[in-house]
Amino acid sequence: MKKKVIIQSIGLLASVLLISGCQEASEDPSEDIAEESGQDNSEETPENNSNSDGLNESDSVSDEEDQDETFEDVSVTVDYEADLLKPSSIKALVNKQYALPEDYSPEDLVTVEVPTILENPEVNQLREAASIALSDMFQAAEEEGIKLYARSGYRSYQTQVQLFDSYVSNHGEEAANRYSARPGESEHQTGLAMDVTSESANYQLSEAFGDTEEGMWVAERAHEFGFVIRYPRGKEDVTGYQFEPWHLRYFGEELAQEIYESGLTYEEYLMERGLDIEAGE
Ligand SMILES: [Zn+2]
Repeated sequence: MKKKVIIQSIGLLASVLLISGCQEASEDPSEDIAEESGQDNSEETPENNSNSDGLNESDSVSDEEDQDETFEDVSVTVDYEADLLKPSSIKALVNKQYALPEDYSPEDLVTVEVPTILENPEVNQLREAASIALSDMFQAAEEEGIKLYARSGYRSYQTQVQLFDSYVSNHGEEAANRYSARPGESEHQTGLAMDVTSESANYQLSEAFGDTEEGMWVAERAHEFGFVIRYPRGKEDVTGYQFEPWHLRYFGEELAQEIYESGLTYEEYLMERGLDIEAGE
């Protein structure tokens, strides 16, 4: 197990270095979109697909035999009905196949106690456990000279209706569905997702954040605090979304650690564990 972890860490580090290498020259032209809407959709980046040549988390450094061992000693149980389909579950699966009910809102929302960007008080909330973990992560980052900002957290179903509609009228439905979430299909409605950014990324949600010192810190450390980068590079066909280095989903430390060490998206992780879920766009 130790060995595998180390191998995968090296693999991830290699990915991060490669990613930063190939992104260096690209300034993001579409940052303003996120600025206006505060949603997860700032990217119009065709170069995302340039990554399909094997540059992803489960890269060539870890080989097939590691793959077989990956789920032998998992400690977190995941039950399809009780965990994945229950909206208030910390392990809830929310994507384009698994939508939340219109009337679901978490009961334990609190205002986050970290620096924020937007004035709308709704989006500066998270569920309590996620908020505490976010504070811990921001503090650990700050102790290492990394200053993070929370940009967009909880969003109600109705807020998502407004965001999606405005995106459709500005960019068309096809684009909207690729860069934003339909109402009910956004992890932000769980109160367990927070979009983070930095001064170096102009406080925006852009792919460029992944190349900043802050974005790389988050990629390497967020799992220690229970967060996972939910939409990794090169996994659009699995998650249904472009690479979003800013979108963190809280799963709790134990599960986040396992997902991180697997090098997989949450959907792939669940399927590897034998859960019969649908994935894709
Ligand atoms: Zn997000």
